[in-house]
This record gives sequence, structure tokens and C-alpha cells, in this order.
Amino acid sequence: MTLAQWAADVAWKSLPLLGLILLAGLAERWRPAEAQRWRSRAINLVCMTVYVLGFAVLQQGTAALTVLAINGAGGGWLALPADGWHLLPSFLVYTLVLDLGEYAFHRAQHAIPALWAMHSLHHSDTAMNATTTDRHFWLEPGIKMVTLYLAMGLLFKPDPVIVGMYAVLGLYNVVPHMNVRWGLGRASFLINTPQFHRLHHSMLPQHYDCNFAGLFPVFDVLFGTYRQPGEDEYPPTGIAGRDVPAGMLEVLAWPLRRWLRRPGRGNHYS
Ligand SMILES: [Zn+2]
Ligand SMILES: [Zn+2]
Repeated sequence: MTLAQWAADVAWKSLPLLGLILLAGLAERWRPAEAQRWRSRAINLVCMTVYVLGFAVLQQGTAALTVLAINGAGGGWLALPADGWHLLPSFLVYTLVLDLGEYAFHRAQHAIPALWAMHSLHHSDTAMNATTTDRHFWLEPGIKMVTLYLAMGLLFKPDPVIVGMYAVLGLYNVVPHMNVRWGLGRASFLINTPQFHRLHHSMLPQHYDCNFAGLFPVFDVLFGTYRQPGEDEYPPTGIAGRDVPAGMLEVLAWPLRRWLRRPGRGNHYS
């Protein structure tokens, strides 16, 4: 595969996500949680491009390693077939266990300083919207591949149809990041919503370390990190000190930004 073919393949696979983000952008004009300037989306689009390309590159190496380890262990432990009546239970088991794994990984990202140094890029957005969805540090998918996805590969041998169905469901991740006034009130434990996830991104100390769920907030309920949003609770988002990337270099080297920033640059970072 030539470099051009590889880039075209990556772009092609990103199309559903881009389309959804575009649609979400239109929907965000309906009932925005806060007024935002279009400019605030630019850095997210840069982050997303770096992340998608980084993910594609890392996947070449880490996925091969992961597959090697899984095959070395004799393949996944539990088969999840997709034929006939097996489809629904297989999909439910795969989705629930992977979402639990995502919850655990997310807790680790907030608890382990080296992981927070990367994950804080996602949280640094002071104008959260659909484009924040893939505002992640480029190395994170590689770490996930050799931890969470490796564990899933050792645990399950899913039919490719199940994996494909989960990939489609995973696009829902755009929704909780949308800049819209939408929550489920007392039923917030059912599914992640923009209001529920906004509390996770909140800049206010009273919201720290809550609502980690990817799809199903029931894991927050089970592990004591659930916080039901108040009726009109849409707090400001971002991290302490409004720490944000100052440019492309800081997007690429986000965990190292303390060293990248020169004293006396005349901004609030130094
Ligand atoms: Zn987080
Ligand atoms: Zn988020």
C-alpha cells in the first residue's frame, strides 16, 4: 500500500465520524448549552486529524502485537457468535463488558498521573461540542490497544459482525459531547447524555471525578461516581487554570508542555 492509498483509506474510514460531527454541529444550533465561537472548533479539528492519523499509524504496530499475543494465548476464551438468535446476547455481552472496560480505563486516566498528562488534552476544551469527541492525545489509542483491547481479545472471540455493530454504536460518543441542553433528569443512569457528560468535563471542583461512563452510566452508579445533573445544571468546562494548547506543537507534545512553554512569553501559562 502506498502512502497515498493509506491516507485515502484512513480518510474513507473517518467519513462516518466526520459526517456525524457535521450533523451534530447543525443540531447544536437548536438549544446550545452555552454560546460558543466557531473559532473554538479549529484546535479540535487539528487534534482530531493528529489523533486519527496517529491512531492509524499506531494501529499498524500495536494491533499486530495484540493479535500476536491473543493468538499466542490460543485465541479468545469465549466465542461470541452472530448467527441466528446468538446475535443479540453476543452483542449485549460484548458491549456491556467493553463499556465496563472503557469505564475502568477512564478511571485510570484520571487516577494515574502519566495517563492524566495525556487525557487532560481532552478535558482542556473550554467550549465543549461535537468536535471535542476525538480531541485526544495521539499516543492514547496505542496504550488502549495493549491494555483494554488486548484484555478484550483474550476474553472474547467475537464474530466480526459483533465488532462491526459495536463500531457503529461507538459513534454515539459524539452525542454526549454536543453543546446542547439535553439530559434525562432522574433517568440519567440509563444512557450518557450531553448534560451528564458535561458534569464530567466541568471546571468546577464539586464535579471532579464523576460521571466517567462511556455509554452506560450504570457503571458510575455501581462504583459510586454517579452524579445526577440538576435541572438546569450546565457548568463551564475545562481544566484548572484554563490550561489549553497554545498551538500545534503543544497538541503534538501535550504532556511535555510545561517544558515547551518559555518563561516570559507573556501569557497565563508561564
Ligand atoms: Zn475524563
Ligand atoms: Zn469527553
